[in-house]
Amino acid sequence: MRVCSFSLGFKMTFEIKERDLLARIGRLKTKSGIVETPLLFPVVNPSIQPIPPRKIGEVFGCEALITNAYILKKRFQNQPAERGLHKFLDFNGVVMTDSGAYQILRYGDIETTPKEIVEYQEKIDTDIATILDYPTGLKVTRKHAEKTVNTTIKNAKQLFKTKTREDILWVGPIQGGRYLDLVAKSARQMRKLPFNIHALGSPTEIMQQYRFDLLVDMIVTAKMNLPIDRPLHLFGAGHPIMFSLAVALGCDLFDSAAYAIYARNNRYMTPNGTYRLEELDYFPCPCPKCTKTTPEAVSEMPTKQKQTFLAEHNLYTCQAEIKQTKQAIKNGRLWEHLQTRAHSHPTLLQALKKLKKYEDFIEKHSPATKKSGIFFYDHTDLTRPYVVRHRKKLTEQYSPPKEAKILLLMPQTRTKPFSKSKELKEIKKLLRNILKQHLNKIHTCFYTAPFGIIPIELDEVYPLSQHETTLPLDKETIEYVTKQTANYIKNTNYKTIILLNDPENWNKNILNTCKKTCKNKNIKFKHINTKEKRTKTMLTSLKKILQKTLSEKP
Ligand SMILES: [Zn+2]
Repeated sequence: MRVCSFSLGFKMTFEIKERDLLARIGRLKTKSGIVETPLLFPVVNPSIQPIPPRKIGEVFGCEALITNAYILKKRFQNQPAERGLHKFLDFNGVVMTDSGAYQILRYGDIETTPKEIVEYQEKIDTDIATILDYPTGLKVTRKHAEKTVNTTIKNAKQLFKTKTREDILWVGPIQGGRYLDLVAKSARQMRKLPFNIHALGSPTEIMQQYRFDLLVDMIVTAKMNLPIDRPLHLFGAGHPIMFSLAVALGCDLFDSAAYAIYARNNRYMTPNGTYRLEELDYFPCPCPKCTKTTPEAVSEMPTKQKQTFLAEHNLYTCQAEIKQTKQAIKNGRLWEHLQTRAHSHPTLLQALKKLKKYEDFIEKHSPATKKSGIFFYDHTDLTRPYVVRHRKKLTEQYSPPKEAKILLLMPQTRTKPFSKSKELKEIKKLLRNILKQHLNKIHTCFYTAPFGIIPIELDEVYPLSQHETTLPLDKETIEYVTKQTANYIKNTNYKTIILLNDPENWNKNILNTCKKTCKNKNIKFKHINTKEKRTKTMLTSLKKILQKTLSEKP
């Protein structure tokens, strides 16, 4: 599906259709057609290619691939230009070219100039092109990292003097490696230039070392300093285990050489990790390759055939994980998907915990979707934008009804919304019968995991009643809700607090914190244990406390 070249102002090339967390499903316009993101570009090396490009498109459904302009120039000179890159590769979809930067990282230097690489990519008619950047790598000095950033920026500026075509999308890479201030500087400089796409360099080594926490730092730093809606490519991050993490942080494009490289080393990818072929007794994969054979049979194949088998399986797995991540974005359940993948490896869970550091930024740019109910498993979910957002709103924007003098604090009920629960109905009946004209003096709030305090009038706001929480609660979640409860009492002006204490789910935490906070504020505090007494007895106690409180002079 070739489209005639059209004018590509960079604002027009990327359209966002769906969001979840910082992830998006988008449409990227190129001169060879529109592709949907998040998108994986399998790396094609025409010299040693286990799966032909045509098959990558037709059988594996890949809409795009990436190849290396420097390798093409060195090995094939003018052939790709004479035949056109798409014909040369025998691929109908979108072709992206990398510049040779990876070769600099591996071999130190390469025999070309930034200008030559720009001219060559225009000549071969690539769709998405990359300037000659200078990858930082992982274990380098600050001085070297600075040099890589400055050289990349210099080459980036030169592009806009060299390029002659307007129909190719240009990628402006961000460097800086583990030096986050340099990543930020690099991004701030790059954002000033009219690139269509940005890319974050150097994650290959970071991935090999399983430093996913550092990857979180690098991606978020880049995102914070780039125009948030411009597409971002993550270079060399080709393992399905981390796609959802990178997508959740706002990466749109990936390239994978890993599917083929792993295959050469007998490694079998799964979305939860990698196996050596000889470790497997069964293929845990429903792809068309794996369903027809066994690990034992594949082990006995001739080397080349075995490598092709593994490369094909690996590519199916990568594609499936991209699709699963996209579906999670559509369903508003990317966080849950991220949780599942994070439990594939301790370092991934460490990366998920790292998101706490950036919870404000993630919350600010996450959409408020109203889709299915959401799941909370443990305290790592407290970073989730819904929780952060509710906390901020309650602290910064909420005040209780003016006439409210008594705060009735109730534990979360089994059924939701809390305001329609059996427990509250009984209390409401009691209040109506006995208190009549005093009703508006009593304000009911719920203490709940993971949101903290939910005032009754807000409990149908999504997702305060549209979630499921795992019980028993973990220590950190109890501490979080306890702290939110104390903050709520501190920030409001009730005269009396009445706690329906639920020791079964909260031990003495809520009780002790309420007692302490009320004492410090010099306001009255009463409590009734809900689980120890039958409902009728509890209601009688509550009635007595309320009558006494209302009869007392303020
Ligand atoms: Zn498979």
